[in-house]
Amino acid sequence: AFHPVKARTRTTCGYCGVGCTLDVIAHDGEVTAVLPAPDGPVNRGHACVKGRFCHGFRTSPERLTRPLLRRDGVLEPVGWDEALAHVARGLRAAVDAGGPDSVAAISSARATNEENYLVQKFMRVVIGTNNVDNCSRLCHSPSAAGLTASFGLSGGTDTFDDVERADCLLVVGANPVEAHPVVGARLLRRVLRGARLVVADPRAVGLALHADVHLRPRPGTNVALFHGLAHVLLAEGLTDEAFLRERATGLPELTELLADYPPDRVADLTGVPAPDLVTAARLYGSADHPAIVYGLGVTEHLHGTDGVRSLANLAILCGAVGTDRGHGVNPLRGQNNVQGASDMGALPDVLPGYGKVTDPAVRMRAEGVWGVPVPGRPGLRIPDMFAAARAGDLRALWVIGEDVCATDPDANRVVHALDACPLVVCNELFLSETAQHADVVLPVASWLEKDGTFVNFDRRFQRVRPAVPPPGQARTDFDTLRAVAEAMGVGLVCATPADALAECGRLAPVFAGLSHDRLDREGSVPWPCTSPDRPGEAKLYTERFATPDGRAHLAAAPYLPPGERPDDDYPLVLITGRRWAHYNSGSMTRRGDNLALDPVDFLDLHPDDAGRYDLRDGEQVTVESRHGRARLIARVGDQTTPGQVFCSFHFPASGVNRLTSDVADTVTSCPEYKVTAVRVAVP
Ligand code: SF4
Repeated sequence: AFHPVKARTRTTCGYCGVGCTLDVIAHDGEVTAVLPAPDGPVNRGHACVKGRFCHGFRTSPERLTRPLLRRDGVLEPVGWDEALAHVARGLRAAVDAGGPDSVAAISSARATNEENYLVQKFMRVVIGTNNVDNCSRLCHSPSAAGLTASFGLSGGTDTFDDVERADCLLVVGANPVEAHPVVGARLLRRVLRGARLVVADPRAVGLALHADVHLRPRPGTNVALFHGLAHVLLAEGLTDEAFLRERATGLPELTELLADYPPDRVADLTGVPAPDLVTAARLYGSADHPAIVYGLGVTEHLHGTDGVRSLANLAILCGAVGTDRGHGVNPLRGQNNVQGASDMGALPDVLPGYGKVTDPAVRMRAEGVWGVPVPGRPGLRIPDMFAAARAGDLRALWVIGEDVCATDPDANRVVHALDACPLVVCNELFLSETAQHADVVLPVASWLEKDGTFVNFDRRFQRVRPAVPPPGQARTDFDTLRAVAEAMGVGLVCATPADALAECGRLAPVFAGLSHDRLDREGSVPWPCTSPDRPGEAKLYTERFATPDGRAHLAAAPYLPPGERPDDDYPLVLITGRRWAHYNSGSMTRRGDNLALDPVDFLDLHPDDAGRYDLRDGEQVTVESRHGRARLIARVGDQTTPGQVFCSFHFPASGVNRLTSDVADTVTSCPEYKVTAVRVAVP
C-alpha cells in the first residue's frame, strides 16, 4: 500500500557530496531504475555508476530487517518494544552510574539533516551531554576549522557553477574523476574548453593526465608546497595589493615566514621540482578567474588544518575569494551529507549553525527553544570517545550509520574500545563490522527509504524523499531517536522531519529561511539563508568576510613533518582513498551490481618497488604497519611513485584500517590517513 504499481520519486543521491538529483522509478514497492534528473541543479542530467546503479543493496538477503539484542554473547532477533526498552534502560543506567558524560553518540552522513539534528538534540536534551560527534571528524573537520579561521564560515566559499567559470583550476589532494565523478566530468569539460589546470597530488589521478602541470609532493608535505607557491606569488608580484590592504590581515607575519620557503628549499622538502612549482604559481596567480578545489589529500594529515589555511592563503594573496575575480576555496566533501551532519550541530563543541557551546548567548538561544539547560562544556571527539571506553569511563555509545570498526584508523584499538563499553547501540543496514560488536542493533532505513534533506558540498539543502518502504521492520533513524527518548520519558517534540528542520531554523539564524515546503517549491537552497523571503547565499563574502573583524585572515604556520615516517623496517608510505565504483566501507556498493565492476581491493605500487620486493602483478601480498596487518592483491603500475603505495578502504575484509595510525590533526583530531609507513611481503 506504500506505493502504487509504478511511481517516480525525486530525491538526492545518498553517496558522494556532489548531491546529484535523481528520479527513482519503483514498481510495486521495489526500485527498478534510478535516473539522473535533467534539471538537477548540480548534475543536470548526469549521474555516476554509484548513484545510478547502486540500489541492489536494498534487497540484499543480508539486509537487517529486525532488531537484534545480544544475549549470552549472541545477537538474537527481538521485537522493537524489547529492543527500545533495553536501549532506554541501558542509557538511563549509564547516566545514573557515571553521569551524562559517560554516554556518547556518533552520527554520520547516512543520517539526514533532520536525523542529525535529532541526534544532537537527544544527547543534549535527553542525556545532558555534548558527547556527540560525526564522521566529518575523519575527513573534513580540518576544512571546517581552517575555513572558519580564514574566512569565518565552515563551508566552501563558492558554488560549483562559479568554479566552472574559472580559467585556472588548482585541484589539490583530490581525485574527483573517481570519488566525485559528476564534478570530475564537469572539471574535465572546463579544462577541455580551455581552462588551465594545476593538479597537486602524489598520485597520477585521472585529472592529472590533462594538467598543465602536475605537482607530486611527498605525502605529508602540503604545507611546505603551499608556502612555496605563496612565496612565488609574493616574489613575482602576483598578489592583489588592494585586496590585501582593504580585506585581509596577517600579511607581515606571512611575508616573514615565506622568506624561508624559496622554490629550491621547497623542492627539497616536497620532492616537487622548483621549475614546476614556479610554473604552477604563475598559472594560478596570473589567471583572470582562478579557483581552488581540494579534497582529503589536504585534510587527512597531522597538520591538516594548517594545510587548509595555507591553501586558503593563496586565494587571499591573489584576491581570489569573495570577489568577482576569483572562485574561492572549495572542499569536495566525500559523503552525501557530511556537510549537513556538522551544520546540524552533531559536533561536541557547537550547536546547530556552529554557535559554540561555551558561549552563554548561544546556549540561551537553544535553551529558549528546547526548554532545558544546555551543557556548556565541550564533549568528546570520536577518538576521545574510544579512549574513554578503553579507560572504562564510557558506559554507553550509540553509533548511527557509521561503521567505525571498518573506517576509523587503528581499527584494532577501535574494536577494543567497543568491546570495553558496557552498552553499544548500532543503527545499521547490515551486520557491519561495528554491528558485530554491538549489544543492540537497530535495523534502519536507507537513503532510498526516508524523508528529509541533505546538504551537498556547495552548501545546498536538497530534499530526500522515500521512494520505497524500508524492508521488514526497519525504521528511520529519526523514529528510533524519538522512540528511545519517549521510552526514557522525554519527548523530542519534533513529530516529523519537516518539524525538525523548522525547529533548527528557530535555533540557528543561518538556517532560518529553510523549510521542506520551500525546498519542494524551489528544489535547492544554499545556506546561509536567514529568511523565508530571501535567497540563500551561494557565493560567500562578496561584501565582508564572516570573521569578527570582517577580514580574511592569512595564516603563518610553519611546515612541520608528518607524524608517521618511513624507516628501514617500514620503508613505504601508504596512502588510502576512494575508487570509482564504491563508496566508503562499501556496505551498500559491494552488495549490488557494482561489485562486478570492481570486485576486489588492490595495493597499487610502482614497478620499481615491485622489483625491489620481488612482487608480481596479481599476487596476494601482506601489508604490515606498526599498528596491524592487511591482505591485498598487488597491482603494479605507475599511478604511484616509487616509495608510495595506495589502496582503498572499500573492502573492510582486507583490514586496511588495521594499518592506519591514531596520529591525528593537531587542531581537529582528523586522522592522518594519507601517511602510514608500511612494508609489503608475499605471505
Ligand atoms: Fe552524483 Fe556523487 Fe551520487 Fe555519483 S555518487 S550520482 S557523483 S552524488
